[in-house]
Amino acid sequence: MDIKEKILVVEDEKSIQSFICTILTANGYDVISASSGSEAYSMITSHCPDLVILDLGLPDIDGLDILRAMRQWTLMPVIVVSARSYERDKVTALDIGADDYITKPFGASELLARIRTAIRHTRTSTNAAVGQSGKFTTGGLTIDYAKRRVYVDGEDVRLTQNEYKLVSLLGMYAGKVLTYDSILKELWGPGSREDNQILRVNMANIRRKIEKNPAEPQYIFTEVGVGYRMAEGD
Ligand code: CA
Repeated sequence: MDIKEKILVVEDEKSIQSFICTILTANGYDVISASSGSEAYSMITSHCPDLVILDLGLPDIDGLDILRAMRQWTLMPVIVVSARSYERDKVTALDIGADDYITKPFGASELLARIRTAIRHTRTSTNAAVGQSGKFTTGGLTIDYAKRRVYVDGEDVRLTQNEYKLVSLLGMYAGKVLTYDSILKELWGPGSREDNQILRVNMANIRRKIEKNPAEPQYIFTEVGVGYRMAEGD
């Protein structure tokens, strides 16, 4: 199953928005776009993209305020784009938690390189076990973050997009308990109407695919009333 990374492009200048969207689509990304801050924020929470390209100069809300609001609940990678060349904005954006910064005008190859780095960094920085290989392994289970696939004893287990997101998130925090709420927020956004039931359904399906005996899991454990924990990496 080929799962494309979803990128949200937040840019009010139509010509620049279409320039970025064309480049990203041509390079295999799943692209969505927003032209205002309020539209952007609702798309971030409803779509939970893999990365956000965020213009700072928007008509309604300052891009920095959107970034501040996002960092209350997610580490989703954000690349800030601005025509402003002021050093202060750049530092502020990075201090608030932007992953990178790109100044207009920029070329396609520069943009693509920034995106690849931001996505790779987010996937590998949260867990030393993932390391430079871009893979997480515990026993017979391997998560290949670059290919977005999960293998058990060398076999591709063919997860759905939601199942993959859940397994990959737990893998990034392997050894730590993630609460149901933090998982729901991370995968579906704050104020999502999803409840724990969607996690239970997905987890039941995941376990049928990855565990030898789903009733006695060896990879992903349930912490009753709290959340889930991935076994520590090798
Ligand atoms: Ca603008």
